[in-house]
Amino acid sequence: MGLMEGKRGVILGVANEMSIAWGIAQQLRAAGAELAFTYLNESLEKRVRPLAESLDSKLILPCDVGSDEAIATTFKEVEKVWGKIDFVVHSVAFASRDDLRRPFTETSRDGFAMALDISAYSLVAVSRYAAPLMTDGGSILSLTYLGSVRAVPNYNVMGVAKAALESCTRYLAAELGEKKIRVNCISAGPIRTLAASGVAGMREKIKYMDVHAPLRRAVDQTDVGKSALYFCSDLSSGVTGEIHYVDGGFSTIVNV
Ligand code: NAD
Repeated sequence: MGLMEGKRGVILGVANEMSIAWGIAQQLRAAGAELAFTYLNESLEKRVRPLAESLDSKLILPCDVGSDEAIATTFKEVEKVWGKIDFVVHSVAFASRDDLRRPFTETSRDGFAMALDISAYSLVAVSRYAAPLMTDGGSILSLTYLGSVRAVPNYNVMGVAKAALESCTRYLAAELGEKKIRVNCISAGPIRTLAASGVAGMREKIKYMDVHAPLRRAVDQTDVGKSALYFCSDLSSGVTGEIHYVDGGFSTIVNV
């Protein structure tokens, strides 16, 4: 019997087959989980629907996490069909390319608010609507990056948003623990995806891993997916509020 047999959950953040959320979904499905997928808009639906259907998903719903109403509608639909859920994967982030390409001091007020809204506040809003469906406890997982705790070149406003996301993880964990809902965050190393293409120098950051990370390689979507399986399953039953690095050990070393 698979580790996730009998468990159901929602995956937010698949854009295409390169998405980290897709790597996570494949691991969860292989372990027996039943999955619902959300997509941002109609043009992404065309990519997400066939991927979701290839993992036998019957619940494929629109959800712009910039709207509380949209999040509420999505989880209402999930509740109508499934009644309860066991996990949610939040693999969503956004910052305007303009803001990511400017010096940090030139970050726009609107761009700052937008990056924090979509990339950090959305975890709070998603948890608000998902938690009532986790009637037997559950697991909420999101994705962060080292730029939250170090000033990584070009990561800029997204680093600030990830710091907020990690803090939200701890506050959500503190509040939802009594409902047996665990809230954790995976800090992934750099991986080539659509979102990563917005950050200048990503290719170089990935190459740097091959030489400098203790494991002498960059991680990929499968590495993150396997750790996500740990967090979404009962294997991590005693773990909450954790920022867990899946980066080949890079965050633990200093190169001098
Ligand atoms: P991706 O582009 O495949 O995924 C980002 C997703 O966010 C997309 O599916 C996009 O549709 C979604 N999104 C953006 N705005 C949204 C909105 N308003 N409502 C709903 N969805 C919205 O890229 P990815 O690299 O797989 O990113 C997934 C997560 O992993 C993000 O949180 C990202 O910051 C994080 N992360 C990525 C890396 C990396 O190097 N790729 C490293 C660490 C953490």
